[in-house]
Amino acid sequence: MRVLPTMALVSIVLAAPPAVAASPWAEATAPAALPTASLGSPAAGCLAGAVALPSAGPGFQILRPARNRYWSHPRTIAFVERLGRAAVAAGLGTMLVGDLSQPRGGPMPSGHGSHQSGLDADIWFRLPPLPLGDTERDTPTAVSMVRGAGIDPGVWGAGQARLVELAAGDSEVERIFVNPAIKAELCRTASGPRTWLGKLRPWWGHDEHFHVRLSCPAGAPGCVAQAPVPAGDGCGAELESWLAGPAVPRKKGAATPALPAACSAVLAAPPVAP
Ligand SMILES: [Zn+2]
Repeated sequence: MRVLPTMALVSIVLAAPPAVAASPWAEATAPAALPTASLGSPAAGCLAGAVALPSAGPGFQILRPARNRYWSHPRTIAFVERLGRAAVAAGLGTMLVGDLSQPRGGPMPSGHGSHQSGLDADIWFRLPPLPLGDTERDTPTAVSMVRGAGIDPGVWGAGQARLVELAAGDSEVERIFVNPAIKAELCRTASGPRTWLGKLRPWWGHDEHFHVRLSCPAGAPGCVAQAPVPAGDGCGAELESWLAGPAVPRKKGAATPALPAACSAVLAAPPVAP
């Protein structure tokens, strides 16, 4: 092993980006040329035959395309495009789409514990009237909708509430993670049927974006479904317990669940032709 002088070592350590473990999943730059399949679960899975969300379309724009996390199951892509069209119809502005999945899904070296099987999509609450320019698209500014224990009325409004309701009303959406303060606000202001509120699951963070999770595709034996969301609108005791102070999140560095054996073939498969 080469020994570096102490000062040189210190400057290298200071200049280095945060350590990110090399992952074959992050290094796969193109999808696996296999029939489309969501394998495993969002927190321990992978994705065969992924397709890319276009960088922009009616009502939506992807953020940080250089991260190469705009891949997903075709059904998730169709959902995002459908929600974008609904946002246009409702006059909501431009829907900013954050991470979907890597080209072959799998664990990401940073940012998420899930998004592994092509069922998850992050959508920002910010709704700019026009699409962002390239510079801001590549280094976007996140805006928290939460201030103290409640929402920030300076940035949260009817457009945000409508977008979440439209997403939750989609029959293929199984659950949506939002900050407890945001769920509380939607519980307070919702009018009409309240079944969609039950899909909103309080979770830490999720104050500048909401995280949409689709159900497993029908007839997909390799896709591991999550337990269904509890019945009711979830605006009562469960939400109160979150607002009182949520349970401690899983510690960083906790053992990550093993991927299904079928994911080895996804990693080993040739890439789709460009
Ligand atoms: Zn997410």
